[in-house]
Amino acid sequence: MTAAPLAHPPARLTAALLWPGLLLACVAATALGMAHGHGPLAFGISYALLAVSLWRLERRWPHEAAWLRNDGQMLPDLLHTAVSKAAAYYVVVAGTQQGWFDALRLWPELWPTHWPTAAQVLLGLALAEAGFYWAHRVSHEWAPMWPFHAVHHSVTRLWFFNTGRFHLVDTLRSTALGLPPLLLAGAPDGVLTWVSAVTAFIGLLTHCNVQMRTGALDHLFNTPALHRWHHSPVLPEGNTNYGENLVLWDQLFGTWYRPRDRHPPRDIGIREHMPDSYTGQLAAPFRWRAVQARQAGIASQASSTSSTG
Ligand SMILES: [Zn+2]
Repeated sequence: MTAAPLAHPPARLTAALLWPGLLLACVAATALGMAHGHGPLAFGISYALLAVSLWRLERRWPHEAAWLRNDGQMLPDLLHTAVSKAAAYYVVVAGTQQGWFDALRLWPELWPTHWPTAAQVLLGLALAEAGFYWAHRVSHEWAPMWPFHAVHHSVTRLWFFNTGRFHLVDTLRSTALGLPPLLLAGAPDGVLTWVSAVTAFIGLLTHCNVQMRTGALDHLFNTPALHRWHHSPVLPEGNTNYGENLVLWDQLFGTWYRPRDRHPPRDIGIREHMPDSYTGQLAAPFRWRAVQARQAGIASQASSTSSTG
């Protein structure tokens, strides 16, 4: 499938600088804020500015012009994002304040606290990826978990706004499996905070509908170029690129996927029919057989209509 022709694609250098430039700007602003005792404020401003920047860039240089059209899902996207972020935030705050995380830090002496902060954060990102990767892979390849993750994959377009569209259970699954590798290795709270911040920035970048040239970065980081294949409805294409921030484990386990001879799919989504409303989507995983039966009914109706028309 080929992309719709675009009137003004970005210059090659601009397209190559967008992904690393935006990420580094957010990280630098957050680091500056942390150094002056305003870490949460700096993170919040950086995140908001990144979202606004991507919104503008999506209109200027869209990867898929068709994905700019309203899909009627902004309210469910917003509610899923708000509820999931609040739940993840509660787990992290409560885990820190109630001492749950300390109980999981079985080998705190393992953590190299004498390393520079940037090196500790990179180590934290690599370790966290072990949890993120398997949590994500299980949600695709273990049938009982798929209905919850299907809410995220039911989008028919990718853009920055539906980055956080996750069923609450899916978010709790990801948090519960993503944090333990870091905690068991004794990662301090500061590293957890940085891993969370970088995950938030990369998440927005991964889902954005902007033409970017990530080239060699695709081999190490989860980029939009890789994630668009992950949203393919074709299973051998969609069951790939599970990494959250880094694709180390995809490389290791053979799930890294980036064909160079084809454009990523424009028609994305799932085989099942996801309800349109937020409450319908929250309930859908608990009545999955009915969701599948409804899809089967729609498909048979469509085939009888086409055969008679
Ligand atoms: Zn997925």
